[in-house]
Formats: sequence, C-alpha cells, structure tokens
Amino acid sequence: MPSAHDLDVLSRQLGRPVRDVVEIPARCVCGNPLVAATAPRLGNGTPFPTTFYLTHPVITSAVSRLEAGGTMNEMNDRLAADSRLADAYREAHEAYLRARDEIAGRAGTGEVPEIAGVSAGGMPTRVKCLHVLVGHSLAAGPGVNPLGDEALEAIAEWWTKDRCYCEGAWETEGEAPSKDLSRHGPQGLPAIVGRPAPVRKGQDTAETTEEGTA
Ligand SMILES: [Zn+2]
Repeated sequence: MPSAHDLDVLSRQLGRPVRDVVEIPARCVCGNPLVAATAPRLGNGTPFPTTFYLTHPVITSAVSRLEAGGTMNEMNDRLAADSRLADAYREAHEAYLRARDEIAGRAGTGEVPEIAGVSAGGMPTRVKCLHVLVGHSLAAGPGVNPLGDEALEAIAEWWTKDRCYCEGAWETEGEAPSKDLSRHGPQGLPAIVGRPAPVRKGQDTAETTEEGTA
C-alpha cells in the first residue's frame, strides 16, 4: 500500500488529488514514486483499465517530447512491418493484463469483466500513448514492454533510472492539492489518478477511461 507520504507526493507530482492508488510499482532512487498503480475497479465502481500511471513530472514531460517528435508514428509503422516486434508487443499486452489481475487480487477488487482483455496505451496492436508504455516498462522492469523500453532509452538525455531528478520537479511547500487522500473520500471529486473523473450520466452510460496523459 502507498504510504500517506507517497499519496502526498503523488498529488503534488500531478497537481491534483489522487484516488484509488493501491501500489507504487516504481520508485526513484530517492524513494519517491515514479508510477502509481490503480486497481481495475475504482472505489466508486468504475472499471479502470489503465493500471500503471506515470507520475513523475520529469519523465512525463520527457515522454511528451517524444510524442511531439513523432515517435508513435514511427513505432506504429514498425509494428505493421515487423512481426517479431508485433509479437513482443502483444506479449507485453498479455503481461499487462496479468499484472493487473495480480494487483486486483492484492487490492481485493475482484474480477472486472467490463475490461477483460482491454489493456491501455493502444496495446496490443497500436501505440496511442507512450506514457502508458513507459509506465508499464518502469513497473515491469526491462524486457517486458519493448516499445516502453525503447521510449525509456530515448529519454535518457532527460531522465535515467540511476539518478534522482526530483529536486524542484514539483511544489513541496504548502498544502498538497487534496487533504483527503483516503480511498473512500467524498464523492464528486476526481476519482482517478491524473485526470478528471469521467462524466457519468447514469449507471448504464458509465465510461471507462482508456489511457491517461498527465
Ligand atoms: Zn528522486
């Protein structure tokens, strides 16, 4: 479970309150979170397929630079042309789903049939969000998500795992963006990590949120 300090840091990194974070699967060498893991069903019942969310602002902005530079188009072209890469990427998708099941088991959220077989970031056949892939690579370690691993290598001039880049990366003075970081807080606040809760008109129009950008 994330500590109260972890949740405080996460909300500062993201500039908004965090909800339903159940684990911190990757940390800076200094101990601060790099990635937050969210259970596949939120406390309010919403299915949530994006298990691994990149939270560190230095990494997030570096990955945004890659996206702006066209890396995803290039990766999608290679996925279409290189069957070995496509196979490895499909395996990454399967690994993502297995990791999510394990997290759900530890968090006690049970089966989430609404998102069975649905991962995130465009997997298993496309690249739609490099932040998702990098979050997965950091959580899983090298050798699991080939395109997340590539993206991490590509940001090495801005971030590497052996150094701390936390100094000055977020506001450390004053109150964190939310005082109430409990799993079962008041309704009506953003319910998910890193972005506002989906607008829901009723139970049968409940949306799932596919992928995040910070
Ligand atoms: Zn650090």
